[in-house]
Amino acid sequence: MYDLVVIGGGSGGVRAARMAASYGARVAVVEEYRYGGTCVIRGCVPKKHFVHASRFPELFEVAPAYGWTVSSKFDWDTLRDNKDKEIARLESVYRNLLNNSGVEVLDDRAEVAGPNAVRLIKQGRDIETRFILVATGGTPFRPDIPGALLGITSNEAFDLKVLPASILIEGAGYVAVEFAGIFAGLGVRTTLVYRRDNVLRGFDPDLRKDLHEAMARRGIIFRFETTIDRLDRAERGVRATFHSGDAENFGAVMFATGRKPNTRNMGLEAAGVDMEADGVVKVDAFSRTSVPSIYAVGDVTGRAELTPVAIREGAAFAETVFNANPTAVDHSLVPTAVFSEPEIGTVGMGEEEAAAKIGDIDVWVTRFRPLTNTLGDKPDRIMLKLITEKDAGKVVGVHILGQGAAEMIQLVAIPMAMGATKADFDRAIAVHPTAAEELVTFKVPSYVYRGGVKQ
Ligand code: NDP
Repeated sequence: MYDLVVIGGGSGGVRAARMAASYGARVAVVEEYRYGGTCVIRGCVPKKHFVHASRFPELFEVAPAYGWTVSSKFDWDTLRDNKDKEIARLESVYRNLLNNSGVEVLDDRAEVAGPNAVRLIKQGRDIETRFILVATGGTPFRPDIPGALLGITSNEAFDLKVLPASILIEGAGYVAVEFAGIFAGLGVRTTLVYRRDNVLRGFDPDLRKDLHEAMARRGIIFRFETTIDRLDRAERGVRATFHSGDAENFGAVMFATGRKPNTRNMGLEAAGVDMEADGVVKVDAFSRTSVPSIYAVGDVTGRAELTPVAIREGAAFAETVFNANPTAVDHSLVPTAVFSEPEIGTVGMGEEEAAAKIGDIDVWVTRFRPLTNTLGDKPDRIMLKLITEKDAGKVVGVHILGQGAAEMIQLVAIPMAMGATKADFDRAIAVHPTAAEELVTFKVPSYVYRGGVKQ
């Protein structure tokens, strides 16, 4: 009899398992694929390596202004194979972390066989447990169109045998804009097709506008207000027919149309676990499902599909169930980065949301060319934006687009979590010359909203 069986060896599951074991629980983790989950195996980590690879050409471009002469040539096989080696190393790190924490590591497919039983499919046996944690993450989804299987998803994009000469990416969320930047940076002619009118729906409007312009400057082609209706094999690649009527051939087509939770055929319904129609597992603030012995964390719960959030939820679960310390995760102020080119760091409310929810806000925005771009004579500007309650009040949103945005936003998230005001920001002395110093040197608002209306 186990105290805990975790289904899924990704970020959330591994953290929960290790912490529960540290509190004395007898724990097993069951994973059918590779330990580390989406983030390590086919998400954040390999993606960031690809992003780094895609950024070299821009450095080569400005190099002559700094006195360097560079001749460059890119080899996809080298990047992909080195990425594979690094991912294999990280997977073994994850396995060792579990082993060293006293967690039993099972390589199998698991299904829920009842409130206190998990079926190991390959081994063909059931194991008993006091608690089950469902941490099975999500998987990319393809729209239901003819020829959909001719398109790849991010899963396959990481392992392409050959880099295509051109690619069409459908969607305009995190994955779409990140991969558009990667492919374009690696020299692939990149087109992005999206059913609405601009990238990153839900983000601050200045981030969306500036990112769209910067992506277009990098040669990315946009087809807005349409979708892919069908895909057919073409002589060299795939032919996409758009809802707008026209068609075009591409070396590859990638769907970045979102993700669905991995909850199908897992025995959850039969065990009595309540789920949304799309397979999201319903949980309370302590990650408990409708079955008291079954909990769920991470992407399956649809709260925020981000690794650090899953890790927090896994830790809070272990704290609640195995350390008698009920802990709920606050999902209200989650900083996040989009590794587009240029990258985005964002925390708190966007301008539209803050105007609607608070009414009286001050907006402080600046755009300027960072030093590398002045000497290198490149047009890209960094954008930093602060949204505060009126009269130097509480900072409710910070949005940055440009080099270093991801690193900056992590640090800004700290005073924001403490409830800092604009006056608190202003007390900090600027670090010069940096881009981030602008966050503490704003003198007058760029514009204000009163009663939700821009003045
Ligand atoms: P998103 O939900 O962010 O984006 C999906 C995109 O596909 C949207 O533009 C959506 O349009 C569009 N779409 C959805 N369904 C269809 C359809 N049937 N036909 C055409 N277009 C469609 O999903 P992603 O896969 O990009 O990312 C999933 C999550 O993973 C993110 O929300 C994020 O939390 C996480 N992630 C985080 C990263 C990071 O932290 N840097 C990186 C990558 C992923 P619409 O806007 O109209 O809904």
